[in-house]
Amino acid sequence: MNRPDGRRIWLSLSCHPLNPDGDQPQAVVISFTDITQRRAVDTRLEHEATHDALTGLANRTVAINRLGPPARNHRCGHTAVLFIDLDNFKVINDSLGHSIGDRVLQVIGSRLSHGISPDDLVARLGGDEFVVIAAGVTSPDEALELVSHLRPELAGPLTVAGRRLHIDASIGIVIAGPGDDRTGEDLLRDADLAMYQAKTQGRGQHAFFDVELRERTQRRLQLEQDLRDAPGNGQLWLAYQPIVDLRTGHTTAFEGLLRWTHPHYGTIAPLEFIELAEESDLINLVSDHMLRTATEETVELRARRNANVSLTVNLSARQFDDPHLVPNIRRTLDTTRFPPNALCMELTESALLRDPTVAARTLAELRDFGVHLAIDDFGTGYSSLAQLLKLPVDTLKIDKSFTTGLGTSKDAQAIITSIIAMAHAVDLTVVAEGVEHPLQLDILRQLDCDLAQGYHLGRPTAAHNLW
Ligand code: C2E
Ligand code: CA
Ligand code: CA
Repeated sequence: MNRPDGRRIWLSLSCHPLNPDGDQPQAVVISFTDITQRRAVDTRLEHEATHDALTGLANRTVAINRLGPPARNHRCGHTAVLFIDLDNFKVINDSLGHSIGDRVLQVIGSRLSHGISPDDLVARLGGDEFVVIAAGVTSPDEALELVSHLRPELAGPLTVAGRRLHIDASIGIVIAGPGDDRTGEDLLRDADLAMYQAKTQGRGQHAFFDVELRERTQRRLQLEQDLRDAPGNGQLWLAYQPIVDLRTGHTTAFEGLLRWTHPHYGTIAPLEFIELAEESDLINLVSDHMLRTATEETVELRARRNANVSLTVNLSARQFDDPHLVPNIRRTLDTTRFPPNALCMELTESALLRDPTVAARTLAELRDFGVHLAIDDFGTGYSSLAQLLKLPVDTLKIDKSFTTGLGTSKDAQAIITSIIAMAHAVDLTVVAEGVEHPLQLDILRQLDCDLAQGYHLGRPTAAHNLW
């Protein structure tokens, strides 16, 4: 109601009969209370619980509710979720200060609210993450239209405290249809995954969520967790592939290649889990285990076969960061009584040239106690042979991509011919990798290649198959 001074107030009204025991009330007391202030407090509390203090936008709770199946179905069912994360926002915050960072978030928040239609919602999820929830978007094309419509709001230049800034954002998109039973949290999580996918493509990109993306991410997370225990519980083992002397036809060495038998996913190739191990610090644990197993098994192989075969193992670039690398290798060889000069460690060009000084020092230390060294996948990097020859290595392994071309590509043959000539000029042994056909073997012999490895000569196989 309106007070005499014109202010609108809220009143609470209550009625009490004066003779509650009688049949007919004779009189009633009606009282009014001014609850304007209480209501204001309630409204403020409700606003605070549902809005983000910095931008005044709806918060995560509201977004999750709006995305839940009941709310979606109520609004025609088809909903697009745009998960927006500013690119390099941390740089702005760190270099220009938090108050400028806050202002940027406010401006972006307000531009997004103006960019959407009244029925849609913009929320700030926290940090530099926003979400736009748009009803009635039925196809990826329509979602892309919305992205193109909002992109200028995000990427347009913005002036804060007299500075002109250029911001852009990565956007992850999910479209939920009427029958979709994902909860609000599920949809936000999926949109977040798609946003991460967009980030991998560079600044200012967008990506759609698909189930495969979720499966890949879940698999990755699961593997990352399980890899920690894999060395201890016997799931990591080695397959050995023969390296054959092209003059005598004898196997002179075996390359140990890691395998992971995962209880749920089955056999996992090293290209997948070595990368995971390198990203977390597990690479040292996994490599220690690999070297111990490989040297133990090769000691046994040498005893059983009464042969002098060597062992070749792969070293990852990341292992050079470990100050204990050389002492650890030394200790393992001592423990398993493996002769250092029967061990060759393979490194890729990129590993060697990432920090050539550290690499050269580590290689020199390894060589000092007798370990041989090889450059793996030679020809795939961009390094010059001259650069690599400054390093103390013994062997060059020509990458499979060149071997594959032998017999069909004149270029491949010319490249291999010159690699062999250059390597021999400085006393390096040459191994050709990936030999799959007898013809390739013939050509390699003619080209005076020293050693070869490949499916044609023997596939990688568990140690017990070699005994
Ligand atoms: P790599 O060192 O170049 O190993 C050779 C790869 O080529 C092996 O794959 C081998 O199975 C495969 N291969 C051998 N001959 C042929 C052939 O004739 N045709 C074809 N198509 N492939 C052939 P794998 O075992 O999957 O290993 C892949 C990579 O994973 C290795 O490439 C190596 O870089 C890495 N890796 C394996 N074990 C370890 C390890 O213990 N430590 C580290 N750091 N990396 C490892
Ligand atoms: Ca190798
Ligand atoms: Ca290789």
